[in-house]
Amino acid sequence: MKIHEHMGYELIEKIKNKELSIQEIIQSHFERIKGTEQLVHSFVHLTEDEALKEAKKLDEDLKKGKSIGKLYGLPLANKDLICIKDTPTTCCSEILKDYYPPYNATVIERLIEKGGAIHIGNTNMDEFAMGSSTETSCYGTTYNPWDLTRVPGGSSGGSGAAIASGQAIFALGSDTGGSIRSPASYCGVVGLKPTYGRVSRYGLVAFANSLDQIGPITKCVYDSALLLEIMAGKDPLDSTSVNRKVDKYTEEITHPIENKILGVPKEFFGEGLANPVRTSVNNAIKKLESLGATTVDVSIPHLEFTVPTYYLLCMSEASSNLARFDGLRYGKMSDNLTGDVFDVFSRTRGDKFGTEVRRRIILGTYALSAGYYDMYYIKALKVRTLIKNDFLEAFKKCDSIICPTMPTTAFKIGELIDDPIQMYMMDILTCPVNLAGLPALTVPCGFDNNQLPIGFQIIGDYFDESGILNIGYQLEQELNLYRKIPPIKNGGKKK
Ligand code: GLN
Repeated sequence: MKIHEHMGYELIEKIKNKELSIQEIIQSHFERIKGTEQLVHSFVHLTEDEALKEAKKLDEDLKKGKSIGKLYGLPLANKDLICIKDTPTTCCSEILKDYYPPYNATVIERLIEKGGAIHIGNTNMDEFAMGSSTETSCYGTTYNPWDLTRVPGGSSGGSGAAIASGQAIFALGSDTGGSIRSPASYCGVVGLKPTYGRVSRYGLVAFANSLDQIGPITKCVYDSALLLEIMAGKDPLDSTSVNRKVDKYTEEITHPIENKILGVPKEFFGEGLANPVRTSVNNAIKKLESLGATTVDVSIPHLEFTVPTYYLLCMSEASSNLARFDGLRYGKMSDNLTGDVFDVFSRTRGDKFGTEVRRRIILGTYALSAGYYDMYYIKALKVRTLIKNDFLEAFKKCDSIICPTMPTTAFKIGELIDDPIQMYMMDILTCPVNLAGLPALTVPCGFDNNQLPIGFQIIGDYFDESGILNIGYQLEQELNLYRKIPPIKNGGKKK
């Protein structure tokens, strides 16, 4: 087996046993990147020199018997909206192209500075994380490693594609309405969106603060549990992070699941769900039953209102958050300036934000404006509470909820980009989780006739990451799909 085909936990064992050095591992991943990146385009910035230097240092420290952190120098790809000191963090937007953060995000402090992972580059994403296909990036799209004519999902599409194609062992994503789970599902890897407040958002460029969470994208559930164990927990720098014990996820995932009660929400299996997705998810449910879990019907009656509610709220929050990017406080000023300070602001924002970001700022500003505030923003907040209550009701009957992650497999590049409503509808099964603030995991559960991966979603009660990782791990072991490697080809052509 090639180095990049291993799971993270296997490489850690090999480093401990002195079978492999950290330098060999980092080098082999950069070789893999060189061989695949032209086709996949997962990265917007690579840090090869720094990474190799760090690998050398960690190998030396290890020889001297020093402790080098639980992640043993394994390669980590960072989504381009999580701040790393003195490294470009651009949110894949023209407006931030020259931005070098003066500080590290808390997750970077925990995973890299203390955990010992090595940063190998920043990954492509939809501009400011607004999108479901990674097509709105100012650096161009990322291609799905399973079929290069298709999108990798979004907005963390670069992270999903990097993990699927063996370019990195760990990747970070952020999930506001599905941006970790959509690419993980479309790329056939594992994505975890933690409970709101489980992981610090300090240093994450905000899209919609009340919904955003950072989480891991990995090849397998164990690696996801390992990253969460290190990155979770209270952070004094983020007042919304919650002071609760961090569980021993890597130990708890192996527990048997025979006493679990799993809720199947009928609304998540409605029309619009592609047949191969339905079949694969139903097969996975049978597997979980064969492992001893009991399934019960549950209902999320307000599911049909989740997409409009989510979009009203995220656009309103985005319109306020993105006000700081005006060329003066943050962001690069437009080159063709003529008039006064208002002209500087409006030209800079008009020139440097992409179409989707501008659409959201305008709609969000409208929803928050005097006269419309009650009708749109406040109403959406009330519906958000109804959706949350649906989940609270469902969790009275079950431990976790199981359903598909995405309604279809990966769609073609260009297919939905000019049809925002259809694109927004792709989030129907992921965004309810963010509105309620719950944790959710996606694990691959099969393939359609085009050999495109299908994701299985496990939604947990608040702070029950341990429970969903446990179910995900048992399902993964049973299905044994996690070593499948995408072909990364399409008859030699990209499109
Ligand atoms: N697709 C959703 C959106 O465009 C989700 C984005 C996200 O989770 N960052 O808003």
